[in-house]
Amino acid sequence: MRGLRELLEKNAVDAFFVTDIKNIRYLSGFTGSTAYAIVTKDAAWLVTDSRYTAQAKAETKGFKVRLFRKAIETLRELLSELKVKTLAFESNNITYDNLLRLRKAFKGIRLKPVSNAIQRLRAVKDGDEVGLIRASAALLDEGYKRAEAILRPGVVERDAALEIEFSFRSMGAEGLAFDTIIASGERGALPHGKADFKKIKKGELVVVDMGVLKDGYNSDETRTYCMGKATSEQKKVYEVVRGAQERALQTLKPGVRASVVDLVARQHIEKAGYGRYFGHGTGHGVGLDIHESPGIGPLSKDVLREGMIVTVEPGIYIPGWGGVRIEDMALVVKGGFEVITTTSKDLRCL
Ligand code: ZN
Ligand code: ZN
Repeated sequence: MRGLRELLEKNAVDAFFVTDIKNIRYLSGFTGSTAYAIVTKDAAWLVTDSRYTAQAKAETKGFKVRLFRKAIETLRELLSELKVKTLAFESNNITYDNLLRLRKAFKGIRLKPVSNAIQRLRAVKDGDEVGLIRASAALLDEGYKRAEAILRPGVVERDAALEIEFSFRSMGAEGLAFDTIIASGERGALPHGKADFKKIKKGELVVVDMGVLKDGYNSDETRTYCMGKATSEQKKVYEVVRGAQERALQTLKPGVRASVVDLVARQHIEKAGYGRYFGHGTGHGVGLDIHESPGIGPLSKDVLREGMIVTVEPGIYIPGWGGVRIEDMALVVKGGFEVITTTSKDLRCL
């Protein structure tokens, strides 16, 4: 049950009510889109609807499956059979309306709000997950080869994105981790400039941030290319970002505060005089969600642990000029880190 039973003890509750569908997948293996889970010290139930009868039984390990017609009634019956008196619920994953519904339906049960607890378990990946994320990242690197083959002056951002996305799917991706970002020229100053109808021009920098979803796991990587020959300023900004990214990567190891990784990248960019052009955080965890725990930013309270997979992605975005971002995914290992995205970071002019 991947650490959930320890959470029962820690929160002094009889059962955990799991509503986040990614958390349910993490705990049970179920890949459908509708389910709830109730886990006690010695029982685990997956509650889903009739579309998923066979799938739930085939996919889940260690869970009994019950089907609902009206979810809240089935859940209430189950909690009563299991004699649950205190129930933890995912307070970060419920609407106010649903909370009112639960309170009414689960009368007599003490509800305990617990925030992001399973997400914290998910931050540390086990060997199987690391393998799946590596496979997702390897597919993504193949997509970068495709990108480097087709990105040229005269190509429309959106056309390039479509072609790369087609290659992802044909190589076995389930889908995209997020809308493909291809931001050329001035649009590069938009950190999330998804591919548009703009034609890429000679002399521009192009920020390409892509991610794929494979077997449930996401990957995320950014490279910045120049079109034609790079100017000295383009080269300079690129090297500043690359230096910040390298330095930040070098700080990754178990026990280091995530905010320190951010600080290392930020100070490097500030020293070069571009501090006001780097507004976002330096990175994030990646797994079943594209953005998950830990956060790597100035305000993060997270501490790195062995088995975490994080991105390191500083950037410089100059309005009216353009932008540069370089992003890799890295696995935190004993004593250090291992980069798992492999596309070259030398400035390539296409
Ligand atoms: Zn990214
Ligand atoms: Zn990212």
